[in-house]
Amino acid sequence: MLWGDRGDGPEPLISIDAGQAHSRFDWDRWSTLVRTERYTTQARPLYTRLPFHYHRIPGKLRRLTAKALLSGQAPSVDSNSFPAFPIEQGLELVAHLLDPPAAPSSPSVVLTHDIDTGAGFGWVRQTAEIEFAHGFQSTWHVVGQGVPLDYAVLDWLVERGCQVGLHGYNHDNKLAFLPADQIRRRFDACRPLIDRYGITCFRSPSWFRSPMLFEVARDYIQVDYSRLDTDRSCPGGLGGCLWTRPFTHDGLTHVPTTVPFEDPLYWSESPESLVDYWRQKLEWLRACHGGIVVNTHPEPQFSGNARMLAAYDKLLDLLAEQQKPPVPA
Ligand SMILES: [Zn+2]
Repeated sequence: MLWGDRGDGPEPLISIDAGQAHSRFDWDRWSTLVRTERYTTQARPLYTRLPFHYHRIPGKLRRLTAKALLSGQAPSVDSNSFPAFPIEQGLELVAHLLDPPAAPSSPSVVLTHDIDTGAGFGWVRQTAEIEFAHGFQSTWHVVGQGVPLDYAVLDWLVERGCQVGLHGYNHDNKLAFLPADQIRRRFDACRPLIDRYGITCFRSPSWFRSPMLFEVARDYIQVDYSRLDTDRSCPGGLGGCLWTRPFTHDGLTHVPTTVPFEDPLYWSESPESLVDYWRQKLEWLRACHGGIVVNTHPEPQFSGNARMLAAYDKLLDLLAEQQKPPVPA
């Protein structure tokens, strides 16, 4: 018994009898509210109202601007800000108390990438070769319109067992804020790409998401990667579904991204320190049976450069090592 006194006092809120948890909380309702992020609303950034596409600003300058925007969302070990980053354990803690998830046979590792611009395609093969060398295949989200797609590279990926996903319509970061009919029009325009690669998954550009976006998206794709378990990556503000495993809501399966590998670079980490930065989170994900869902971008200002590829190689060393079955005693 955790609270109260079953004798003369009030009924306990949570009790455990014969290993079975009983709760007076409405867990389903509350956990759904949290996982679908109804507790927060993302703000539409001013730059999405510019009269031109923000990708017309050079990549290096965009990165500096993003760094300035996201610096206010930097995690601080000294503060009690919510949600904590990179580990927010609140909802997981209650879940493990009420209904502990079964341990998977091996940690679930999903490697995902978002190709935001044409410049990203030049680094795709090199990145994927590192993954193949570690025994992994990956998912590559591409923009449906306005970005010159390198079909030879995408075909090369698919031939090697990788998956192509949709990364929105034109990456102007307006998608999540539009009315339903305009969101639908944008998805319709991506239909040829969806059909060409049998696309079933989606990540919203820059992590912008809204209930309306998901309501429309479920008519086009089955799996969404737009949510993070704890989100300091989206310029629209802090959030996250506080959950580390796939869940289904209103006909759409959400797979929370738990390792936005590059994002600590916004907060003064170096490529060489990234693996150590994420090490504790990876151990925590394994311990709570959460999914290890990694995201990077192949653009030169993100992971398309020698230092970041070396860091990614090191990350995959660690993940491949964890994937190995334990040596029998
Ligand atoms: Zn993107």
